Amino acid sequence: MRRRDFLAGLGTGAVATGLAACTPPCEPTATSSTQSSRRFTWKMVTTWPPNFPGLGTGATYLANAIEQMSGGRITVKVYAAGELVPAFEAFDAVSQGTAELGHSASYYWKGKSAAAQLFSAVPFGMNAQELTAWLYHGGALDLWRETYEPFNIIPAPAGHTGVQMGGWFNKEINSVADLRGLKMRIPGLGGEVLKRAGGTPVSMPGSEIFTSLQTGNIDATEWTGPYNDLAFGLQQVAKYYYYPGWHEPNTILECLINKDAFSELPEDLQAVVLRASDAAAQNMLAEYTARNHIALKTLKEEHNVDLRPFPRDVLDRLRKLSEEVLQEIAATDELFARVYNHYRDFQTNVSAWHDISEKAYYLTK
Ligand code: CA
Repeated sequence: MRRRDFLAGLGTGAVATGLAACTPPCEPTATSSTQSSRRFTWKMVTTWPPNFPGLGTGATYLANAIEQMSGGRITVKVYAAGELVPAFEAFDAVSQGTAELGHSASYYWKGKSAAAQLFSAVPFGMNAQELTAWLYHGGALDLWRETYEPFNIIPAPAGHTGVQMGGWFNKEINSVADLRGLKMRIPGLGGEVLKRAGGTPVSMPGSEIFTSLQTGNIDATEWTGPYNDLAFGLQQVAKYYYYPGWHEPNTILECLINKDAFSELPEDLQAVVLRASDAAAQNMLAEYTARNHIALKTLKEEHNVDLRPFPRDVLDRLRKLSEEVLQEIAATDELFARVYNHYRDFQTNVSAWHDISEKAYYLTK
């Protein structure tokens, strides 16, 4: 049985395996039935606390969708950060096949490839609607697959947070000078921009944020938005809640798929994994959109959170610094440059449309 499974895995589809396994004339239906009865038991590692709202539950949604859509032919056991591997080892775990699937955000993997960051969030970049267009109809999925190809991983979009919040601070931010010397938990390209503004960015998994801020190990933090920030209780350890999340105008969450494991699946199950991921992506954005406003009300009315907009000149300065940071990385990394130029061109073009559609509509309110 094991040997037959192994041989079946070598074929790219039912027909190829069938031809290798019998003397002509073959009965493709018999082979199809072997393929369709094969069961797969997979593991999914994540970078999130267990069942954390939106992110951890998004991973569980994806695992359940794969099981349901495959009629139980693929079962997926979800591991929270630290249960099978630490949060920031999820990428390696999927790359090496310790787990067949991962659920995370690509900016955690900038040490693997600088270009990876462009598939999570870009400061002053595109929002969820625009990024979805870039991925599915703009050619970005091919670029993302190319970026992860050397690591034996196939990426798929598996979630969107929508526009995030700017973060939690214990002092007022009235000018960019107020960011100087600030030790802040902020990942990815946003962290690089904070560094350029004189701050010290720290990347740490969500589970460590509350204690780090409480003990003064960090001075400020961003996490996601009201829904997730309330779940961590960040209002208990910081005074001011700033908006908007200039550094994460949307963050794409990803499904990491081990390429060897994916190749072993018959075609219909390959489609199940990819389409389940699409469904998870859409569901997560809906969940954040529906929950953020309820959590915001709770933060304002029950916790009296001091909600502040970043001053316009702070945002203008951060935008300039963001452009500098992005251009500098592009000058040193060919793949980053290619993906960034593609991103920027799409953003410029989609903005021309959105200026007179989405944005113009918001301005009527
Ligand atoms: Ca964030």
